[in-house]
Amino acid sequence: MFKAYAASSAKGDFDVIEFDPGPLGYDEVEVAVEYCGVCHSDLSMKRNEWWMTKYPFVGGHEVAGRVVALGEGVEGLEVGQRVGVGWTSASCMRCDQCQSGYQNRCPSVEGTIVGRHGGFADRVRAQAAWTIPIPEGVDSVDCGPLFCGGLTVFNPLAENHISPTGRVAVIGIGGLGHMALQFANAWGCEVTAFSTSPDKEEEARKMGAHHFLSTRDSDALQSVAGKFDMVLDTVNAPLDWDAYVNTLRPGGKLHVVGAAPKVEAKVFPLLMGQKSIGASPTGSIVRAKEMLEFCARHEIKPLIETFPMSKINDAMQHLADGKARYRVVLEADW
Ligand SMILES: [Zn+2]
Ligand SMILES: [Zn+2]
Repeated sequence: MFKAYAASSAKGDFDVIEFDPGPLGYDEVEVAVEYCGVCHSDLSMKRNEWWMTKYPFVGGHEVAGRVVALGEGVEGLEVGQRVGVGWTSASCMRCDQCQSGYQNRCPSVEGTIVGRHGGFADRVRAQAAWTIPIPEGVDSVDCGPLFCGGLTVFNPLAENHISPTGRVAVIGIGGLGHMALQFANAWGCEVTAFSTSPDKEEEARKMGAHHFLSTRDSDALQSVAGKFDMVLDTVNAPLDWDAYVNTLRPGGKLHVVGAAPKVEAKVFPLLMGQKSIGASPTGSIVRAKEMLEFCARHEIKPLIETFPMSKINDAMQHLADGKARYRVVLEADW
């Protein structure tokens, strides 16, 4: 039997449950959870904001742990090995997306906390290919958030072919944004942080921002018109989309990874400057491995606050209150 913290309703607390996960699949890996990051998506899913939550709900999709069992068909992983599991727990491996290396775009992709139980538990399972080895130089305690939040903001740098001479801006200095600043800086870019909180300036600069602009200042966006190759939006809230498109260079892209309800922007500025607005879901398997190696090479890690997993309700409240600096990680204490 697995033990987990489950919410029985959108408003309920997490309580301990036990469940039988059934036989381990042929290509599955069972992971003992040592740490699990808490992502804003865990909160959105718990509240059923995306209308796809099944209760009892066990969140947790930023797992760092160790392999404890391998399905019959699994090769290349060993019991005891350090691994992580992120938003995706499986994909079909047969469709065009999977076969061209975009497993994260698989139409039948399985989410670790969607219709199944995630990492707020003593153990979790995932398809072997999506069970990502943690390399030397990356510590288990703080790498959980890399598997969802980290991958989500690393992927756009690679997908948009951002060069080291590029200029990148990050909207929002939170769970995602604070990692995006570190990645963009190590990538070689000139990095600008946009935030509604002027008190985050000092920290944003420590994380790699060369410039800091308060978005409460209406002239701030105008002062960087035509500047950026990519503006990475990491916030969940609606924005003044046209104002951000205006900060892009011709050919630039406003890349959305925060889950705002909708994007509304004027077409003409996009057309005249051949600018684009797009989005992406986390990243592929190979991208996850590249990101971990990049983190080891550049000593990049999320800034975390740890809670014992038994204090999960306090941890979720801390996140819901907007107090996380910058990522909450649960440490298994069964
Ligand atoms: Zn997430
Ligand atoms: Zn597929």
